[in-house]
Amino acid sequence: MAPATGTILNVDDNEPARYVKRRMLLQGGFDVHDAATGKDALDLVARIPFDLALLDVNLPDISGIEVCRAVKSRTEGASVIVLQISASATAAYQASAALDSGADAYLTEPVDAAVLMSTIKALLRLRKAEQAVTIANERLTAMNHELQRSNEDLQQFAFAASHDLQEPLRTVTSFASLLERSAGPKLSDDERDYLKFIGEGMGRMRALIGDLLEYSQVGHKPDSSQVVDLNNVLSWGLDNLRDGIVHSGAQVTSDPLPKVMGDEGQLGQVFQNLISNAIKYARPDVTPTIHVKVDQNEHECIVRIADNGIGISPSHRELIFSLFKRLHGREIPGTGIGLAVCRKVIEAHGGRIWVDSVVGEGSTFSFSLPCAKD
Ligand code: ADP
Repeated sequence: MAPATGTILNVDDNEPARYVKRRMLLQGGFDVHDAATGKDALDLVARIPFDLALLDVNLPDISGIEVCRAVKSRTEGASVIVLQISASATAAYQASAALDSGADAYLTEPVDAAVLMSTIKALLRLRKAEQAVTIANERLTAMNHELQRSNEDLQQFAFAASHDLQEPLRTVTSFASLLERSAGPKLSDDERDYLKFIGEGMGRMRALIGDLLEYSQVGHKPDSSQVVDLNNVLSWGLDNLRDGIVHSGAQVTSDPLPKVMGDEGQLGQVFQNLISNAIKYARPDVTPTIHVKVDQNEHECIVRIADNGIGISPSHRELIFSLFKRLHGREIPGTGIGLAVCRKVIEAHGGRIWVDSVVGEGSTFSFSLPCAKD
């Protein structure tokens, strides 16, 4: 025998009517349990995981509407679809009362057997689809929790690793310079080169650890209730970059910038990283020119930082925002973390960051932020 296509509770106090429906449901391949009263129906619902209850409205003890309400308010087990059916309560207001009490559908007698079967099958299809959505949602929630947990683990690991690496790094650096000082005059040219390489390697490692530490720290959710004046944020970033700006002769200009909602420290880091890149990736023999402007609509402010540097080819425009992704070797110093920090900060603010660029002409980095509420 083929397995039942569903388990159905058949509730009707009228024995012949109940029998007719039972036969029809059995022929339809359902597993059927009968009840003649509201109390029997509720007892069965408490014991058996029904897919659907075919519920007569007029029952001798409890009204079918009350039975429906009780079935629908159960918190244990999966939900049961209720199809109310009545020979006497055929007025529209009675149908709405039944549907308002939680019934999924309402039919009045006499019901054509084929229509009843099709209605039951349609309701069960709906239930299956709902269950699939519920399962998918539960899986998604579990995956989200797992992702959040592993992100937190990763953040703690990056913080601990970069923090703990600073100590041995300081030791190696200071002993290398002690060695250089004490053995200085006796060192051969090769040995002097070795010590120089050690110093350079240590410098790169210090930069990497510092950037990694920064990356692990900017992950926390920003305080988005803060109103931040981007003019102040830009000034802070430019102050920090003063040496680089003076040294390169870069011209940095800006339109008046708006206020946004966000975290001042984290946004300062974004401006600083993007402007320092605009200086670092300048074309040889071309004075870096950097302009900051904003396009604003009623929902968001889009900040644009445009440079006249070397540009970025289309195939790299997404990749460069990944951690450790660099397009250059040691000839241009860097760790490949700066843009990953920018993306982390902007996404934590609910915004997006992207780049438009023409190779050999320049790049424009844009990011969106929620505008400050008046
Ligand atoms: P880093 O500068 O330390 O290498 P970033 O994450 O800041 O790391 O940048 C990643 C890569 O993106 C850089 O190595 C560089 O190749 C490219 N890049 C970033 N900003 C610019 C820019 N303004 N112009 C051209 N290339 C850029």
